[in-house]
Amino acid sequence: MDALNFRMLANAIPQLAWMGDANGGMLWFNDRWLEYTGQTQESSLGWAWQAVHRPDELADTVERWRRSLSTGQPLRKVLHLQGSDGKYRPFLSIANPIRDESGAIVAWIGTHTDITEQVAAEERLRARDRELQALTDTSPDVLARFDRHFRHLFVSSAVTQATNLLPSAFLGKTNRELGMPSDLCDLWEEALGSVFETGTPRSLEFSYTTPAGPCHFASRIVPERDAYGEVENVLAVTQDITARKIAEQAVRDADRRKDEFLATLAHELRNPLAPIRTGLEVLNSTSDAKESERVRTMMGRQLAHLIRLVDDLLDVSRITSGKVVLKKQRIDLREVIDVAVEGCRPFIDAAKHTLTVATPPTPVWVDGDATRLAQVLSNILNNASKYTSEGGRIDLTLQRQDDAAVLQVQDNGYGIPPELLPDVFTMFAQVNRTLHRSQGGLGIGLALVKRLVEKHGGKVEARSGGLGQGSTFIVNLPALLSIDEPNGSPTKPSVRPQSPALRVLVVDDNEDGADLLAMLLEGLGHHSVAVYSGEAALEKAAVFQPQLVFCDIGLPGISGYDVGRALRAHAQLANVMLVALTGWGSEEDKRQSKGAGFDHHLVKPVELAALNEVLAKLSSSDAPAT
Ligand code: ADP
Repeated sequence: MDALNFRMLANAIPQLAWMGDANGGMLWFNDRWLEYTGQTQESSLGWAWQAVHRPDELADTVERWRRSLSTGQPLRKVLHLQGSDGKYRPFLSIANPIRDESGAIVAWIGTHTDITEQVAAEERLRARDRELQALTDTSPDVLARFDRHFRHLFVSSAVTQATNLLPSAFLGKTNRELGMPSDLCDLWEEALGSVFETGTPRSLEFSYTTPAGPCHFASRIVPERDAYGEVENVLAVTQDITARKIAEQAVRDADRRKDEFLATLAHELRNPLAPIRTGLEVLNSTSDAKESERVRTMMGRQLAHLIRLVDDLLDVSRITSGKVVLKKQRIDLREVIDVAVEGCRPFIDAAKHTLTVATPPTPVWVDGDATRLAQVLSNILNNASKYTSEGGRIDLTLQRQDDAAVLQVQDNGYGIPPELLPDVFTMFAQVNRTLHRSQGGLGIGLALVKRLVEKHGGKVEARSGGLGQGSTFIVNLPALLSIDEPNGSPTKPSVRPQSPALRVLVVDDNEDGADLLAMLLEGLGHHSVAVYSGEAALEKAAVFQPQLVFCDIGLPGISGYDVGRALRAHAQLANVMLVALTGWGSEEDKRQSKGAGFDHHLVKPVELAALNEVLAKLSSSDAPAT
């Protein structure tokens, strides 16, 4: 190309261009340079170009230009040139050597490309990123922008908590380059790729071990489009959903336990019902007194079991809702042992277990609810019997140790695997379920034990050497100081001698229940009549003039409370003893029946001993003469 053509070409391009000799002296500038700088061809020759360079950059530029001149290496640098308006603009400056055939440098040509727009665009991008950073830094979610090669363009600072890496460590890198687990990279690349390809948002869930431990995350990946609607980048918002996952799992577990519990409950309730029904049939068909006696004993045992199941169920709901109020008094734990052993005796005898009971010769006082503590001990004793093979051994000891009263029940039964020991006190837990399924139970007994003991300020502990090694349950209760005379130790419920004949009215809409109770009372030597509604009760009472009324509360029509109030208001029945007989036994229920005029509140199924106590009370009081 001749010199003229070269100049024409050099004047046609938008860049500022120049040509210099081998030593770096300027020979010629194109029109763009002259226009921009305001210099003339003459005034800019040689090294005069320095006048338009920004002073703070000049030394470096001159030094690099000299180096290029001596090495022959091209020069490439971003620098600022002053325009004729006095303002500096950024340029990308490039200088290249021109060589002859022998390779010797004969000249240099160069260009300055105005990059003002590019720099401004980059600054806008940086500003946008800074804004995004400021915005996302306040969020616990991790926000990330990816390019087509799945490299991070932006990551919010929440990423540090999840990975221990600063956001800057992510920039320009893919997950794989960052050393993330390979299966996680596969998952992400597939999802990112699909968003780039289809432009459709995607959701992703994954697990990742953070410095704080294993966590669950959920990500939403959405496309970011350019001005032409093409997917330029994708944005991913990642949320830590560990707490939600744990909560969901807990709900699922609770649901599963509830289902299992209901299945077990149905099974467990049916278990004692079967022998009771068979027993009834045997009683109907046998006239053998000995056999009848045996069947009755067995039916009684099954009934006791059924009642305990239902009691436990009620207790669970009362205790969990905080409704159990302990009736605490100074009690001798030896008496609690007597009551519990008496209750468990039938089961222990049936399994031919040897039970030894070792108690101190002097009272062991605690401040407690005698009934509840007896319940605690009978649950533990019952388990010992349930989970010990026939002919096994159960040792019960009571000791005073410093400030504590220590009850211990040791069996030589099936034992409990050590890793499952902590679970036995959990509600619905049946640790040896597969092993002792046939033993039955609802898995609530020990949960009740624990809560009741804790309500007494004590603690309970299970020990076992493992399967086949037997188990030991130890209850620790705060002991009271020993004094010789207890003030108000509990009286054990006992069957009182039969009282003189009374007129008794039984009111219950469960006709069988009413008739059977009336029959029982007749058997005890009283005159009794059963009616099945509140209306009938009021009618009958007016003529029968009962001294004692057992009245169900949940009656259709006139409720038991109304019956109570009406009878109390009746002039001739002013002295009648009213006993509420109901399935509801909470303090609130008792308060209500008292308010309606009832003297006593018994919970169904009522024990003979309790019945006798009421009868005895009436006989010993100033009851009107028959
Ligand atoms: P369950 O109604 O199943 O007996 P509990 O709450 O009373 O429920 O006991 C929970 C679990 O603890 C039982 O299912 C049983 O696996 C285990 N367990 C309790 N007592 C003993 C014991 N003395 N020996 C062996 N295992 C026992």
